[in-house]
Amino acid sequence: MKEPLQTPFFRIREKDLLYDISLLRDSLAENWGNALMGYSVKTNSLPWLLKYLREQGFYAEVVSAAEYDLARRLGYPANRIIYNGPIKDKTIFQAALLAGSYINLDSGYELEWMEYLSTLHPDVRFGVGLRVNCDLAKLCPGEVLASEEGGRFGYCYENGVLEAAIRRLRALPNVTVTGLHLHSSTQSRTVQVFGALARMAVQIAREYDLSLSYVDMGGGYFGGRDDMPDYRDYFREICRELSAHFSPRKTALIAEPGVSLISRATTFETTVLDVKDIRGRKFVVTDGSRTNLNPLVTRHVYPHHMEYISDAAVRKREASQWVCGATCMEYDRLFEIRDDAALIPGDKIIYDTAGGYTMCLNPLFINYFPAVYVEHQDGSLFTARSPWTNKEFLQLCYTE
Ligand SMILES: *Cc1c(COP(=O)(O)O)cnc(C)c1O
Repeated sequence: MKEPLQTPFFRIREKDLLYDISLLRDSLAENWGNALMGYSVKTNSLPWLLKYLREQGFYAEVVSAAEYDLARRLGYPANRIIYNGPIKDKTIFQAALLAGSYINLDSGYELEWMEYLSTLHPDVRFGVGLRVNCDLAKLCPGEVLASEEGGRFGYCYENGVLEAAIRRLRALPNVTVTGLHLHSSTQSRTVQVFGALARMAVQIAREYDLSLSYVDMGGGYFGGRDDMPDYRDYFREICRELSAHFSPRKTALIAEPGVSLISRATTFETTVLDVKDIRGRKFVVTDGSRTNLNPLVTRHVYPHHMEYISDAAVRKREASQWVCGATCMEYDRLFEIRDDAALIPGDKIIYDTAGGYTMCLNPLFINYFPAVYVEHQDGSLFTARSPWTNKEFLQLCYTE
């Protein structure tokens, strides 16, 4: 018999990952054709995953110098990297631009860099994209936005900052605005929001007479849940709106999903170690923590299922059991189970849709990074990351 794997660990099922990759690829092909799949590296930068997605034809969407370097090390050629975000590195920016990366400008200083590079390389033709910041609350009343005050990324359309950026770039003889970047995260992730963003791309291209080689719709989609819209719904709507002005013959559609691509495929698997009775309350102690799943402690819902070590139907029922994590912090409580079979040591609690903003956003707090196993389609397991130990933690640390 095979040894059971030591919990806690993440498991990525290749079969489910391929399902969502195909869904994305087919949705883009059917609705637009001329499209490009990016993957948001920050969502989960596990090296195994980055290499796998590269082999599936993805571009790396990066938002820092470290991510750019990571993508290069994992074999992404510069012209298959999309460099985004408000914090860019001047050296990387310059190298990436000259090597043909897609770059979406986001900040004021990047316009200065373009002015500088335009004079430094008068014989090179540069194309760049601009990240658009528009008033989503006004465009989509009733949507739950990521922040009540509105987004902070990109150049503001309403107050003329975007127009001023376009003017500044137009003044440079060898620089063209070739793309618009519309990534805007909302909590509601509705299809309507993406329709409104696509309409915004049409409006801006018309208003400023832009001839675009790409429209980048960003990420922020639902995925991996049967009760929510998926890529088919989003890209049908996006492409319907885009086709009012753009044509796939001239303008490529870029998608850069993160969480929607890897959610279905990933679980986080934990074991019940103990059950405590404290003044009538039941606390279930497990070896996986809230910090593994939700380091930002913003979530209250943890989709999960149980694998009981013995028949749960014959167990006594408990009115309330609180599932708690492996740190010594009181807030490390995940969810309450009401009126259900009593958990006992050895039971497994398996968290579903655990792939995004977890594995690599995990703090090195009390315990280090857990293992990641990939379950291939034939059922075999591959160790994509061994659990971190003090060997890794002590790297680059010095004592006197
Ligand atoms: C985070 C991010 C994404 C991915 O967002 P998801 O919600 O994980 O799909 C895509 N593009 C940019 C610019 C991002 O910052």
